[in-house]
Amino acid sequence: MIHGTVIKSTGSWYNVRRTDTNEVVKCRIVGKFRLGDSTLTNPVAVGDHVQFDLEGASNGMIKHIELRTNYVARQSPRRKHDIHLLAANVDQVVLFATIVEPSLKVGFIDRYLLMTEPQEIPAVLIFNKSDLWGEGEWAIFADMKAVYEKIGYQVVAVSATEGGGLAELKNILLEKTTLVSGQSGVGKSTVVNALQPQLDLRTGDISDYSGKGQHTTTFAEMHPLDFGGYLIDTPGIKMLSFNNLEPIQVAQNFREFFKLSPLCRFGGSCMHRNEPNCAVLAAVETGEVSALRYHNYLQILSEVEDVNYWERHREF
Ligand code: GDP
Ligand code: ZN
Repeated sequence: MIHGTVIKSTGSWYNVRRTDTNEVVKCRIVGKFRLGDSTLTNPVAVGDHVQFDLEGASNGMIKHIELRTNYVARQSPRRKHDIHLLAANVDQVVLFATIVEPSLKVGFIDRYLLMTEPQEIPAVLIFNKSDLWGEGEWAIFADMKAVYEKIGYQVVAVSATEGGGLAELKNILLEKTTLVSGQSGVGKSTVVNALQPQLDLRTGDISDYSGKGQHTTTFAEMHPLDFGGYLIDTPGIKMLSFNNLEPIQVAQNFREFFKLSPLCRFGGSCMHRNEPNCAVLAAVETGEVSALRYHNYLQILSEVEDVNYWERHREF
């Protein structure tokens, strides 16, 4: 069998880069695949290491998927009990956001981190379009940087158009396999093109936005970086919901809450809502824990507990 890495998934076909020759082979896979108790909408993700047999002249059949060191998975936007793999075997994720054009959606950041945290994948937050910022926006950036760096996530301001912060971002990507994500329009493709022009990712593409919270139909793809490392680009994400999580898993994956939970009277089973002697609630009171994070936590928790939430609310 031949060893390779999945670099693109287009539904039923996977582009696999052979480890021995670097050649790309179009492969298929057969069978049903599961992750824990959930059905996978895609059995193989970009970043997966696989073994395949050649079929005919130029195609292959994947026979084995190697154990993943980690994966980033989301609840399928179409079937809420299914799981969709965004990528596997990544060193880190870089999440792109903006403060203006489009306006800051802080809820999205915490939702995204709830996808990476269960697998303990390091996450970096990039705020793009800093060229558009005045004093007020720089103050918001400073607040965001303080909140997220305090709990261990690196935060960097960049401008794809003016080049600010790009050297720092390049350094972050160097020699790593990085999943890059963000809501549509935040300038992820423009930033990546500024770092490596020959990649030529599509930019400014909002024509497929249906307004209904469906994700786009383009697919994830891994690109080599000429300065060293790999970048896994994913389609813009419009909505993240978490019916696949139990409420207690939400609590466990807000990392600063989890750290404090041994000090709660109910310890690891505290939901940090209205329990007596809750260390998280006390820390929100003193400002030690961000009120913003806490607010987003309560929001996600209520959605997870209310199984019909997403039937009534299609946007966040
Ligand atoms: P994506 O959906 O995240 O890949 O976003 P795009 O890269 O397609 O960019 C969306 C829009 O934002 C385009 O019109 C870009 O020209 C613009 N844009 C991207 N980066 C910047 C930036 O740093 N500053 C400004 N002012 N505009 C930007
Ligand atoms: Zn508590």
